[in-house]
Amino acid sequence: MDIFTDVLIIGTGVAGLYSALNLKNDLKITMISKGKLDECNTNLAQGGISVARGSTDIDSFIEDTLKAGQYENDVNAVKILAEESIENINNLTNIGVDFDKDREGLCYTREAAHSINRIVHYKDITGKRLEEVLLNNVKSKNNIVIYEDCHLIDILKKYNTCAGGICIKGNKQFNIHAKITIMATGGIGGIFKNSTNQRIITGDGIAIALKNIIKIKNLNYIQFHPTAFFTEKSSERKFLISESVRGEGGKLINCNGASFVNELLPRDVVTRHIYEEEHKTKSKNVYLDISFMPKNFIIKRFPTIYEKCLENGVDITKEAIPVSPAQHYFMGGIDVDSHGKTSMKNLYAFGEVSCTGIHGANRLASNSLLEGLVFSKRGALSINNTIDDLSLIDVEAPKLKYNIEYYENINKKVLINNIMKFRGDLKDELVTC
Ligand SMILES: Cc1cc2nc3c(=O)[nH]c(=O)nc-3n(C[C@H](O)[C@H](O)[C@H](O)COP(=O)(O)OP(=O)(O)OC[C@H]3O[C@@H](n4cnc5c(N)ncnc54)[C@H](O)[C@@H]3O)c2cc1C
Repeated sequence: MDIFTDVLIIGTGVAGLYSALNLKNDLKITMISKGKLDECNTNLAQGGISVARGSTDIDSFIEDTLKAGQYENDVNAVKILAEESIENINNLTNIGVDFDKDREGLCYTREAAHSINRIVHYKDITGKRLEEVLLNNVKSKNNIVIYEDCHLIDILKKYNTCAGGICIKGNKQFNIHAKITIMATGGIGGIFKNSTNQRIITGDGIAIALKNIIKIKNLNYIQFHPTAFFTEKSSERKFLISESVRGEGGKLINCNGASFVNELLPRDVVTRHIYEEEHKTKSKNVYLDISFMPKNFIIKRFPTIYEKCLENGVDITKEAIPVSPAQHYFMGGIDVDSHGKTSMKNLYAFGEVSCTGIHGANRLASNSLLEGLVFSKRGALSINNTIDDLSLIDVEAPKLKYNIEYYENINKKVLINNIMKFRGDLKDELVTC
């Protein structure tokens, strides 16, 4: 089956949905998601979204981001992120994202390595609320068609120009011909045995870029979150205990009840300390304790974490939570400019699949959703200005002979082999396929 569209968007997380909302209403837009529409990492985000606290906070927000990223960030991209943060959060509020508020206005929390409270949130399910509101807004537009359970296998291209995507839905091949293609396929957690990510998020966009010689950056920069709920069940997604638990005063202790690290240091530093402590004490995990705080506060501020831990036999109002690091985020990705343009003509990349350079070697907490918002909007506006001069390219898609698993395994192998070139130390952490 062949479908013809102006813009093809692969992914229905924050980056895909927000780009769709910022494209012109007279464009025909086709969106696809690999699983169900909300089966994405956006839906899992707990802590919130960073935002500058007014123009006087912009320099400090930039400095916190650079410091966490070990000054390997793209300074221009970080400036854009901080400067355009407020307008995008206001825009979310206008379209229905009801962040937590008190009498003075928005509530801001603090997370590791932020020098002040600058994270807006919706309880401890910010991502779920964001996904819900963005999806409802997208569904209300009659120029957007969405196919779920539709897997991108490869791109359609002519020389170095992208012409759409080759997909499989059920057992059927779908060739989606597009003037512009947007890769918003998210991160790589699904290729790790221990990850906080949705299992279906397996870095497909990056594998497809590698196969098609599209420029990739920083394949070695993989973030491990210090505090995932510790369980021995290895095939399950690891439940995240949000950074904001430490931001609100939670204490990290070892198996003997002793403190061993400043909880508000950047993620990579805290993760390293936890690994060292586990090694020293010959334990598989450490503990995160907030049980000394008022019960009502804990249940109101962290209702999902409370419920989820209770399901796993831990009452966080009475006892410490067993935690250990797990793969969480990918700072590298498809190399893009400040409008999300890749090295292939007519192909854009937004969100976690892209590498704008804002995170450097280590992402500052809550900067990911913001990156997805700021750069997908910039990209969409750039597409609006240029798409009228483009036409569909006549390309015939190769006939797919095998099933989805066959092509997905090839993509996983391509990605794993490339990561291993830089990160041989992660060999045992990666899935086999
Ligand atoms: C547990 C958890 C908590 C987090 N908390 C926060 C937080 O508080 N603040 C913050 O800023 N960040 C947080 N993050 C990170 C943040 O959620 C993600 O980086 C961000 O949501 C990525 O958005 P995205 O749109 O790029 O990708 P995603 O939201 O992951 O969406 C990817 C989309 O691509 C689709 N897709 C993938 N491959 C294919 C394919 N082959 N064919 C078709 N479709 C495909 C998927 O179906 C999905 O729709 C958290 C992440 C996790 C896992």
